[in-house]
Amino acid sequence: MQHDELPEWSKKAAEWAADYHATLRERPVRSQSAPGEISRQIAKSPPDSADSMEAIFADFQNIIPEGMTHWQHPRFFAYFSSNAAPASMLAEQLANAISAQCMLWQTSPAAAELETVMMDWLRQALDLPQVFRGVIHDSATTATLCAVLTMREHALKWRGLNEGLAGHPPLRIYASAQTHCSVDKAARLAGIGQANLIKVDTDDDWAMRPDALRQAIQNDRAAGMLPIGIIGCIGGTSFGASDRLRAILNISKDENMYSHVDAAWAGSAMICPEHRHIWDGIELADSLVVNPHKWLGASFDCSVQFLRDPAAQVQTLSLRPDYLKTQEEDEITNYSDWTIPLGRRFRALKIWFLLRAHGLDDLRNRIRNHIAWTQLACDALETTPGIEIMTRPNFALFTFRLAPHDGDADESTRELLQQINADGRIYLTQTSHQGMFVIRLTVGQFDTTRDDVEMAVRVIREIAARVTKQN
Ligand code: PLP
Repeated sequence: MQHDELPEWSKKAAEWAADYHATLRERPVRSQSAPGEISRQIAKSPPDSADSMEAIFADFQNIIPEGMTHWQHPRFFAYFSSNAAPASMLAEQLANAISAQCMLWQTSPAAAELETVMMDWLRQALDLPQVFRGVIHDSATTATLCAVLTMREHALKWRGLNEGLAGHPPLRIYASAQTHCSVDKAARLAGIGQANLIKVDTDDDWAMRPDALRQAIQNDRAAGMLPIGIIGCIGGTSFGASDRLRAILNISKDENMYSHVDAAWAGSAMICPEHRHIWDGIELADSLVVNPHKWLGASFDCSVQFLRDPAAQVQTLSLRPDYLKTQEEDEITNYSDWTIPLGRRFRALKIWFLLRAHGLDDLRNRIRNHIAWTQLACDALETTPGIEIMTRPNFALFTFRLAPHDGDADESTRELLQQINADGRIYLTQTSHQGMFVIRLTVGQFDTTRDDVEMAVRVIREIAARVTKQN
């Protein structure tokens, strides 16, 4: 394929995309394909001579969509949505057309400067203090790993980078059991070790108990260990639990420990002033992560980390051999100094398109609707015989199960979930709560309507009645 053929095929791709989005409701949300079904349809080896674009495009249409779970389906109520507003998809197309590698200011000044301005737009939208500066990563997992590495080096006075961790006392990090497993992964990858990530007791609201946190730090110091950081959780993955940040971040200040807050999902809701009390104290954090690709509408991947003082993270992550040195360093930002990979995509463009094409009011409206419809779905299921609400809505997420009847409630809830997803009209996933198997329902897809949520309730009721009868 040559460049002069691109307009024709781009037009076909755009038409296909428009049709795909317009007809998503006709498809099962979760792919119904069996293991191996897709790979069997693909040639075993690469072609020696070029295939025609007609053949390649036809194969795409015939093979790939059937094997996809449709994350942009308006009845996607599983995991957390990974949204893609049309304006952000368009920006990705343009960024793809330029295909720049934006590691340094001089390799793409517009990408670096747009990132600086967009991070400030988002900072204002989230009502964070002016001192915070942001950087875009691929994922919250990466942002959290950056924060944990910085936490480690802050405590070791940046000696670990050269010396490694041998010879230092065990380093300890504190978080609640509600934090996402990306925190566990960061503790493993940063050489701190899973066993040194302390899951602090929580209270009746599943928020970390400040007294238990203080005690754990004291005990560890007394045992010769080195407490290095605290990770707060806003909108945990299982059922949306949040820590009371002010209390725990004050402890991190008292103890001279670095802090990071994971608000990957619920952070987007902070564009709505009425939710900001939930992260009261956020201004005390050294680092926090919000994923605009989850709830705001920026297409995957787009995770934003805000830093009170980027210098600590830059000192941890920056490496500048001669071949990467540039001039005018005082006036510019080289964002690869703030992140793990050297190479960087032009992600700021989709934030710019998204925020301008919708405006904050429309984005707020969508989030408010999602939260209101989650409450409606929860209320409707609560009055459904045989269904038990396990956790009430936090933001736009609640959990439920089939109430214990004659059989095993875990088994019948598992069966309910399996039948719902095989049916295909909606997609839900599970978690465990106090040792019980529960189903999560979260409303967050960009194009979801109230009708879609009402349909979810009907589908759950219908299939729950059938499963209950079978058992
Ligand atoms: N934090 C929370 C609260 C999450 O729910 C998730 C994923 O769902 C993550 C972090 C990890 O996000 P990512 O896929 O961007 O690494």
